[in-house]
This record gives sequence, structure tokens and C-alpha cells, in this order.
Amino acid sequence: MTALTDTATPTDSALAEVYHSVESEVRSYCRSWPTTMAVAQGSWLTDTDGRRYLDFFAGAGALNYGHNNPALKQPLLDYLAADHIVHSLDMATTAKTEFLETFERVILRPRALDYKVQFPGPTGANAVEAALKLARKVTGRESIINFTNAFHGMTLGALSVTGNSMKRAGAGIPLVHSTPMPYDNYFGGATEDFHWFERVLDDSGGGLNHPAAVIVETVQGEGGLNVARAEWLRALADLCHRRDILLIVDDVQMGCGRTGRFFSFEEAGIVPDIVTLSKSISGYGLPMALTLFRRDLDVWTPGEHNGTFRGHNPAFVTATKALEIYWQDQSFSEQTTAKGAHVRARLDEIASAHDGVGARGRGMAQGLKFADAARAAEVCRTAFDHGLLMETSGPSDEVVKLLPPLTTSETDLDSGLDLLAAAVAATSS
Ligand SMILES: *Cc1c(COP(=O)(O)O)cnc(C)c1O
Repeated sequence: MTALTDTATPTDSALAEVYHSVESEVRSYCRSWPTTMAVAQGSWLTDTDGRRYLDFFAGAGALNYGHNNPALKQPLLDYLAADHIVHSLDMATTAKTEFLETFERVILRPRALDYKVQFPGPTGANAVEAALKLARKVTGRESIINFTNAFHGMTLGALSVTGNSMKRAGAGIPLVHSTPMPYDNYFGGATEDFHWFERVLDDSGGGLNHPAAVIVETVQGEGGLNVARAEWLRALADLCHRRDILLIVDDVQMGCGRTGRFFSFEEAGIVPDIVTLSKSISGYGLPMALTLFRRDLDVWTPGEHNGTFRGHNPAFVTATKALEIYWQDQSFSEQTTAKGAHVRARLDEIASAHDGVGARGRGMAQGLKFADAARAAEVCRTAFDHGLLMETSGPSDEVVKLLPPLTTSETDLDSGLDLLAAAVAATSS
């Protein structure tokens, strides 16, 4: 590893004028990474100047199998070349039949999950909105319990159960019918975090309306890589069960193998009532989302929740192929667990060599938390200058988050970790 040199803070001045003159100020990633990307393959992107970047971001978890994965690309090209159906609302199509049959055979049945599958609109927020709506319709109750530092998306319902105050403020109207509870370890690991919720539920003076559902991430990706312990998740599932509250696991970011198994909740041995999936479910970065729920909760009437882009057929083609390639046996999830353990060991090394730095995460969602929040952004900037893409997360953007494609080779993982180690060293005061 060569020593990192001081480089100017990137600005978005390197981007084409049209980004300044036409695209809204709301743009964000092109500010952190001010270059124009041209092509990508596997874990690497190349910009228009021919510079290569190792991707430890993976579309915020939408590219678990890498960019333009050849084994997924070919069936997609074949499907398009043969004039198969692209747009169909929720008509029956060959691509959809194959997806549903494969999802049931490869994912649901081996896990004894008797879920119905709903296709909401193609984003994570759409899946969350459908989940919240269904929970309210089933129970006839309004309020939802969410957790501190949760992230569930930007539409009003999803935002109402999201923690980040800057994002919430964007709603412009009161975000109601949700009550935040402390996530695991919020008060530093004492089990009382969780008992507080149970206590106010049981207390007729607690002031809590009986909730329709609890929505939780097993690992909070946007919230700073906060990991809920398996026993905490089991206690939460048990409480929901005892108190007749539906449990929604939002697996939009941590699902599809990010933490090892296909669903991030499998390790805890819990069975949520409702599950949301999106990001990597299409396998190819194509928009697609699913809301899964217990068969007996399927109280929708036909067309009661719909949308023009439910069921994007090209996404079904790549999703089906990804399930066939990666999920018919345990080997992919075992490799992910092994890679995650390796990444974690290297992060622990980096953390122990520097003050105010701690490693955190689960599986292949790992990161470094900095006591000095500004340093996390500096590490990401320095890493970008040396060809590594990583983003920050957490309420103060104090965590450098690593979400490499799960298909990243060990050599590439190590080169990225070398760059990260150098960036951390370069930013130590
Ligand atoms: C990204 C994300 C969402 C929102 O997905 P969009 O596709 O951006 O609407 C919801 N929940 C979690 C956990 C996410 O990571």
C-alpha cells in the first residue's frame, strides 16, 4: 500500500454542467462521488476517464450479486430479444409464473414459510407502505411501533416510521400514528431497553395506543449498522405474539443474503408476520419489491392496493435466475458468512490501531464507527480519491458503511480493506 497523499476535497465541479443547471439540488451521491460513471462489471465501476472504482457500496445493497452479472445478463438479453412481455401491470406472464414458482420452491418451502406474495410498486418504500396498510387493515388499529434510528423509506407512511429528523422534516406535514421505541443497545446493552416497551404496553397509564404492528430491521443499515441481538429479536417476536401485535421485518437492505442467510431474521429463528424485500431481490439492480405475509393475513380485496409498475417482467427474469444460481443450496450463504467474518476481523484490526474507532455490523454489512463523526466523511472522501466507493450512515453520518457485492472476490475485498486502512490512517490526527 503506497502512502496516501493529501488531495483536494472533491466537489461536484467535475460533473457535466447539466447536473448543476438541470438536476435538482436534492441530488446526493453525485456530490459525494463527483465523477461520471460509464461501465461496471462485478465489483468494479469505470468512469468516463477510464478510472476504476472498487464498489463497497453496491447500490446501497441493491447489487448483492455485483454489476451486470453475466449469468443474469444473458437470460435478460434473451428475454428482451424474443419480445417477451416487459410491462404487464399484474397480468399473468411467463416471467411472473417462473418467478413465483421459483420463489416458492427455493425460498419459501425449504424454510417452511407459508407466506403469500404481494407485488407492490417496485421500491422498498412501496413494500413498506403495503405492509403498514395491510397491518392496519387486518387489525383495525392505527398505530405502529418503530425503533430509534430506523429507516424505512421516503413516502409518508414509511417516513412516519423512520427516525432521521432531517428526512422526517422533509414531509412538510405531521408524521403521525407511530411511536418510536429504543432499538437494541440504545442505552448501551442493558436489557431494560426492551422492557420499557413491554412495560408501557402493559400499563393502562402508559399512554400507548394498542399498536397494529411493530416494524423492525434486524440490522439498521441507514441508521448506522446497529445490530439487534438474536435474543432481542426473539423477545420482540414473543412479545408481539403474546400481545396480538403484528411483527413486520423490513428486510429491504439486509435481506437477499446480505447477512448470510436469505432472510436476515433466519439466524434468530423468528418468523415475522409480514416481511418486505426490495433492493437485491431482482438480483440485477432492476426495480422490484415484494411484501410477504402470513396466508391468513391476506385480507386484501382485488385491486385495493395497486400500481402501474408492480411486476416489472425483466426484473422477474433476473430475480428467478439469481434464486436458481445462488440459493438452491447453502454454499453462497456460507461463503458470505466467511467473507463477512474476514471483513470484520480486518475492521477489528483497524479499529484497535486507532483511538475513537469501533467495528460494527453483521455478515457482509460491516462498518467503522468514528467518535469524531466528521472523520467518517473524510475517510470516505480519501477512499474515493484512491478508487474505493463507500458511504457513511448513522444519525450523524459517523459510520463508514461497507456493503460490497456478496460476489466480491477475497482479493478484491482485501485490496478495498487495504485502501480503507490507509484512509483511516491518513485521517488520524
Ligand atoms: C432502502 C430501504 C428502504 C426504501 O427503499 P426505496 O427503494 O429507497 O424506497 C426501506 N427500508 C430499508 C431497510 C431500506 O434500506
